[in-house]
Amino acid sequence: MRVLILGGTGEARQLAAALAGRHEVVSSLAGRVREPLVPVGEVRSGGFGGSRGFAEHLRADRVEAVIDATHPFAATMTATAARVTATLGVPLARLQRPGWEPVAGDEWLHAPDVAGAARIVDSMLREGSATSVLLTVGRQELAAFDRLPRGAVVARMIDPPASIPASVREVILARGPFTLDEERATLASSGADVLVSKNSGGTATAAKLVAARERGIPVVMVGRPELPGGATVVTSVAEAVAWADRVVPPAAR
Ligand code: NAP
Repeated sequence: MRVLILGGTGEARQLAAALAGRHEVVSSLAGRVREPLVPVGEVRSGGFGGSRGFAEHLRADRVEAVIDATHPFAATMTATAARVTATLGVPLARLQRPGWEPVAGDEWLHAPDVAGAARIVDSMLREGSATSVLLTVGRQELAAFDRLPRGAVVARMIDPPASIPASVREVILARGPFTLDEERATLASSGADVLVSKNSGGTATAAKLVAARERGIPVVMVGRPELPGGATVVTSVAEAVAWADRVVPPAAR
């Protein structure tokens, strides 16, 4: 069966390796990162051109099943995949790792989205309960924090941003996974007394939450966008492989 994996995550790379030899696999990357970690096997890169382009791609490449293994916050791609596969009758699974949950000692402030996180941080800075923030939400979300006071932000991301707002005093370029010691050092040297994170889940970037707990600093946690209906939701690579092995491609029905 010809399977398209929508990737850009560690799970998507593991899945491409796990499906190799069982199915014909193509991994798709958005092409945003300058030096992406490339999955094994066939890889394509770049946007499809919205729903129309994605539908055309599925037809032209004779895709028989899609596994959406994009990041939990890649809501546009996930919505497109759900809409188009439903219309074309192509089976779809959504591979999404479980979100993080707070544990004893955590002080989490929940934000519905990145703009909401910026509002929470803004009021903390204005009322004096925080003086400096470490952002770990990625390059594309930096603009949401551009109205924070000048120099209040240290921002960590993989590639440099298109522009650096006046609110940002330092950009740290780094790609996870990060060890606990690295996260302790980053929090200490940043001087931040609040951390902003997306609820990405997984282990690669979870150590920052432990480091924040140890330092007793609050975490503004951005909640995940809702999943559209229509996909079979799986939470592990093994479940995704089992799903692919069970699927009957449209041509065989
Ligand atoms: P997004 O907002 O959902 O997608 C924006 C557009 O990028 C889509 O409409 C699509 O363009 C293209 N695209 C996204 N994922 C694609 C893929 N796997 N293959 C081909 N085209 C793709 O996504 P995003 O948040 O910008 O994330 C982009 C990529 O980075 C994703 O692959 C995601 O897994 C990865 N990533 C995202 C985050 C995050 O926090 N958002 C974190 C880590 C990794 P067209 O409409 O032209 O088809």
